[in-house]
Amino acid sequence: VRNFFVGGNWKMNGSVAEAKKLVDMLNGFEVPSNTEVVVAPPALYVDRVNQGLKKEIKVAAQNTYLKASGAYTGEISPQMLKDMGVDWVVLGHSERREYFNESDEFVGEKTAFALAAGVSVIACIGEKLEEREANITNDVVARQMKAIAEKVKDWTNVVVAYEPVWAIGTGKVATPEQAQDVHCFLREWLAKNVSEMAAENTRILYGGSVNGGNCKTLAGKPDIDGFLVGGASLKPEFGDIIKSRN
Ligand code: 13P
Repeated sequence: VRNFFVGGNWKMNGSVAEAKKLVDMLNGFEVPSNTEVVVAPPALYVDRVNQGLKKEIKVAAQNTYLKASGAYTGEISPQMLKDMGVDWVVLGHSERREYFNESDEFVGEKTAFALAAGVSVIACIGEKLEEREANITNDVVARQMKAIAEKVKDWTNVVVAYEPVWAIGTGKVATPEQAQDVHCFLREWLAKNVSEMAAENTRILYGGSVNGGNCKTLAGKPDIDGFLVGGASLKPEFGDIIKSRN
């Protein structure tokens, strides 16, 4: 029942010329009817990419603030995304948590604000290497989920991305079993702390060194509902990742 979901996070990469090439590449991919595809270019390129993409592929921003407008130099609001015809935003990415000091609470507030503005959210969570080694992975992701759940009651327009920080950009992908264990824990967490319906319907994506070679075994796990892809979303193998459930 949960549609497969593949996100492409371009991070701070690209140029006008590269964005055009990526749009052409994406428009050439076959998107299975049971699969949703959303790509997140840098904010400056979001509109141009949105204009160029075929309708089967949607765009997201990589961040938004928790005000609609005002004296917040450098920020953009979910209302502005809606104004531009953009329906998605990525929030709480580990790079924002780490380099821009975003707290669990701030991510929760921004998630609620974006949802209230009618923008769907890819909410990112995940543990650091030292946290995994200390066997507190489940505690960490539960804490991050709780900060969102305190502000968000209706999870219909939320997609959760579980991205272990040690797997991001390292080539060290989680094993399908490691990912499945956390995804299963997250689904049970949703059942206990939000609702059975949220547990049943919320897509939980895996992110961290996903590529054309490892996507199929990961996609075979029952609680992995898709991927959030960084580096490989800029390459032709993204087309294989989109088809990994088919
Ligand atoms: P990589 O796929 O490059 O490891 O990045 C994952 C990620 O952070 C997606 O948001």
